[in-house]
Amino acid sequence: MGSLSQQNEVECKEKTEYANVNWDELEFALTKTDYMYVMNFTQDDGKFSQGTIARFGNIELCPSSGILNYGQGLFEGLKAYRKEDEGILLFRPQENALRMKIGADRMCMPSPTVEQFIDAVKKTVLANKRWVPPHRKGSLYIRPLLMGTGQNLGVKPASEYTFLVYASPVGSYNKAELNLMVEDKVHRATPGGTGGVKAVTNYSPVYKPLTQARAKGFSDVLFLDALTGSNIEEGSACNIFFLKGNVISTPIADGTILPGITRKSIMELASGFGYQVEERVVPLEEALDAEEVFCTGTAMVVKSVASITYQGKRIEYKLGAETVAQKLHATLTGIQTGGIEDKLGWTMAIA
Ligand SMILES: *Cc1c(COP(=O)(O)O)cnc(C)c1O
Repeated sequence: MGSLSQQNEVECKEKTEYANVNWDELEFALTKTDYMYVMNFTQDDGKFSQGTIARFGNIELCPSSGILNYGQGLFEGLKAYRKEDEGILLFRPQENALRMKIGADRMCMPSPTVEQFIDAVKKTVLANKRWVPPHRKGSLYIRPLLMGTGQNLGVKPASEYTFLVYASPVGSYNKAELNLMVEDKVHRATPGGTGGVKAVTNYSPVYKPLTQARAKGFSDVLFLDALTGSNIEEGSACNIFFLKGNVISTPIADGTILPGITRKSIMELASGFGYQVEERVVPLEEALDAEEVFCTGTAMVVKSVASITYQGKRIEYKLGAETVAQKLHATLTGIQTGGIEDKLGWTMAIA
């Protein structure tokens, strides 16, 4: 018994080792960490196998690889949080693994199994443990990539694939106000397209309207549906919610909207708070008439929208400590960081 308590004492005294980072100044940007995880699929094996942790660094690709030539690739994004007692939690990693499987099917790629995905994420976080920010100082953002590698000149699925996971400590996504501009010329997604999966090819096509909107002082664009141009879809990398009275509505994710895991979690929390949560078509006029608007995504978690501008007309929404967005943010980040009991089984303790 004496030796057991002695051992506990030694463990308590052992200080957590942290990387040399100014945790208070972290933004949503890459800080290179020590390791990454790499696992390959070859036609001979017929499956992903022999994944390994490697030093973080540049990778070699054949100039004719599928990812470089035809954009055959997917990404994911999730976070690891440090609890007050230094333990580390992942937030709903199974959801990211399943979303990657669905995306891989759409992009004609083989996918790691859910178990392989979670194992890779865990190993990446544990290998980079000193980069997981202290409790409430940010999080370790984890970026899994699935890409067609090998050689591939013809327009067809690649013969080899690589699943790679890297990570970076991040702070608050963006401390500035969220001012959105409705984009009525460029569309992000079309029915039958790939808007509903995290294909790498969905992002650079929106750089043009996004850059133009940012030059005018907006934080992001808000896309409309490509068929009618009259319904709200989402931002360039976040989902959106509208509150009026006791109703919280969000555009239905049926192929042209990325089904966010934060979105799904927020819908559950808001229902639990007694709001009537509606997943449906949200016409632009209704959105402009909302009392409160907020965006969701792994990077920003939940963030109030200060204004939406449509054809030069700017509508402002409720901000501040009394908003529903603030309440949802506090609850979700509380669960993610272990401060609020996780009754829904969303977190996974890995250290
Ligand atoms: C990743 C992403 C989101 C948010 O999804 P989360 O799972 O909540 O991070 C929303 N919209 C787009 C277009 C995205 O790429």
